[in-house]
Amino acid sequence: MAAPVTPPRRGPLDLAGRAAFGAVRTLTRTATAAAADLTSGVARLGEAAADLVGGERTGPATLRVRVLILSDEGGTALTTPAAVQPSLDRADEVLREVGIRVRVTAVDTITEPAPTPALDPRANRALLLDDVLGRTEFYRRHLAVPAKEITLVGAPVTVIVVRDIAGFTTGCSLGINADWVIAQAPLFDAGRPDAYDETVLVHELGHALNLPHHRDVQNLMFPSSSPPDRVRGSDLRPWQGAVLQANRHVLPGVRESGVGPSASRHEE
Ligand SMILES: [Zn+2]
Repeated sequence: MAAPVTPPRRGPLDLAGRAAFGAVRTLTRTATAAAADLTSGVARLGEAAADLVGGERTGPATLRVRVLILSDEGGTALTTPAAVQPSLDRADEVLREVGIRVRVTAVDTITEPAPTPALDPRANRALLLDDVLGRTEFYRRHLAVPAKEITLVGAPVTVIVVRDIAGFTTGCSLGINADWVIAQAPLFDAGRPDAYDETVLVHELGHALNLPHHRDVQNLMFPSSSPPDRVRGSDLRPWQGAVLQANRHVLPGVRESGVGPSASRHEE
């Protein structure tokens, strides 16, 4: 029996890079936030340098990531934790280049059948509208965390694995407006080279952490990615690293004492 034919995906065209330019108020707010983030990011980089001079070392910052895999109307999970793992590993590898490690707090499969609109969501501005109108209730219910665990700084970003996002979009983020992003299941299917793309998960995390698109195809934030031949790169510029480091989702690295010559002075 022939496999179902689906049109080739041209990669994500998502909110943070597109709608942000359409909504002036949002853009202004984002620009202000980015400026504030940059300032504290630069300050933090200065602090890291001082640590090096002082013989202390600051460990990598931490981004906590949770994955929620939805199940279809028949109760079949859309993918497996093992299939998502290479994209999580890729996120860790890419973000470590700018001093951030990815700590996966959980990869959960929601066995309750999801409603079709949650499985096949709209994208970009339509998704934002759906969120405002309360149509993302199924996500929100499963994103709920106990009150004692609610934090602003260091709050995890949740990747929701859905079945099929409308149009040519394969992943979507509401930018800093939401602590969750969506990615469609075929991205994680290694048996489908026309769809498999490890860059999308970390690209969407980038948007959730306030990164806009970048025009260099070798950059992680290049808007589109077309497997198998034209997959975007995973480069990040220093300024992008500073924006990421300063984001509220990223827990600063802790100082590791006992490293370097100055530490030995305190022994005896
Ligand atoms: Zn994007």
